Amino acid sequence: MQYISTRDQKHKFSFEDILLKGLADDGGLFIPEYIPELDENLIIELLSKDYKNITFEIVKLFAGDTFEVTKLSQMIDESYSNFRDRRVTPLKIIDDRISILELHHGPTLAFKDLAMQLLSRMIEDVLDRNKKRASIICATSGDTGGAAVSAFANKNNIDLYVLFPQNRISEVQRRFMTTNTASNVHVISIDGTFDDCQNIVKALFKDKKLSDSVQLTAVNSINWARIMIQIMYYFSAFSQLNDKSSKINFIVPTGNFGDIFAGYIAKKMGLNINQLVVATNKNNILEECFKSGDYAISGVIPTISPSMDIQISSNFERLLFDLVGRKSKIVCEKMSDLANHNRFKLDNNQLTQFRASFGAGSLDDSETLDIIRKVYLEYDEVIDPHTAVAMGIQFKNKYTQSVILSTAHPAKFPETVDKAIGKYPEIPIANVNIYEQEERIISKNNKLNEIKEYILNNYRK
Ligand SMILES: *Cc1c(COP(=O)(O)O)cnc(C)c1O
Repeated sequence: MQYISTRDQKHKFSFEDILLKGLADDGGLFIPEYIPELDENLIIELLSKDYKNITFEIVKLFAGDTFEVTKLSQMIDESYSNFRDRRVTPLKIIDDRISILELHHGPTLAFKDLAMQLLSRMIEDVLDRNKKRASIICATSGDTGGAAVSAFANKNNIDLYVLFPQNRISEVQRRFMTTNTASNVHVISIDGTFDDCQNIVKALFKDKKLSDSVQLTAVNSINWARIMIQIMYYFSAFSQLNDKSSKINFIVPTGNFGDIFAGYIAKKMGLNINQLVVATNKNNILEECFKSGDYAISGVIPTISPSMDIQISSNFERLLFDLVGRKSKIVCEKMSDLANHNRFKLDNNQLTQFRASFGAGSLDDSETLDIIRKVYLEYDEVIDPHTAVAMGIQFKNKYTQSVILSTAHPAKFPETVDKAIGKYPEIPIANVNIYEQEERIISKNNKLNEIKEYILNNYRK
């Protein structure tokens, strides 16, 4: 399998290239040259496997022989053996319409662990084989950072830099990053929003001299390998459904459009998915685009579901590539509109295609609190605010068969959950002492140069 950039179809890259680069030099995102379509029998066979074996087969499809097979099995095994449920992503059937796919049984209680655990091992393996080092940089809206710290801590050929928006994430989210004592981990608070952090990351990559000299690698969902690893749990969800023949909707709490885009790939591979429903909070640029075709960025509004407080949904560019008939020239035009005017428009044809596979909806904070309460009272389930947004959209639309992606454990947002149901959620045992440990935070202004200088000063050859 070879890869191209959404902004340039001519150059081809290997999986190893795109794994280490993350973002294409032209500013575009890497995508597979084609999506493998699986025939029905192959899908049935895949759905009979467990999580680790589904992962093995799908990685082989997209990464070919990048990894030696015994090494790949070992990396997958190490990645998921410490999850708190042996199914890795257990599906909880709530009633005859709704199931919840729990993606929060990893070390930092959010779905980001699923990709980050395996991604870190893949990167380490490739670096080891090539005797290289890397500086990993990531921007976080709250959960990516913790997952990255947990996955990359103490890897000796890697330095990790995490940028997070100061005061805009929950205390538990912050502590998952700042209480780690590994010397290769640098957690940096930025005086700005998530979009500011992400813009700094993108600008660092545009600085060719810097990115080459410190071997910059991105592990945000702009890295294709993350999306690839997230495809697995759509298959895992189907494998756990009693009725595998009905078309299923997936309702996905969405920020950067990474998780839901993985679902779109699963659908293109042949999984029996009906609609992929974009669930957002008040930062509902994607819902507006779905309604009007106008993708227009405004300011980020802080909400009680902070991991979705994002306006620039980077991965939408990957879908856009398909919507415009896989023509990188048109993607470039739209992205230049976005850079220059903070907006671009989908034409009718593109919008019709968008609506053919997707749905969209949003909830405000008070609706979100109501849903956490309702789900607790009616189903005896404690859910986190992101999951609640998706659940609320299910209740509004009454889809016949839905899987709600539960992207975080409620213990990551204890104050919000307490506000809704009058009690704190239980923290899974392994994480209890994060409240007692000392925090390490490096504070920086929202200035590209400050971050650049910090990375250069800390680079170890
Ligand atoms: C990251 C995150 C999201 C958004 O996922 P995207 O892939 O960025 O769309 C939703 N919920 C939680 C809890 C998250 O951590």
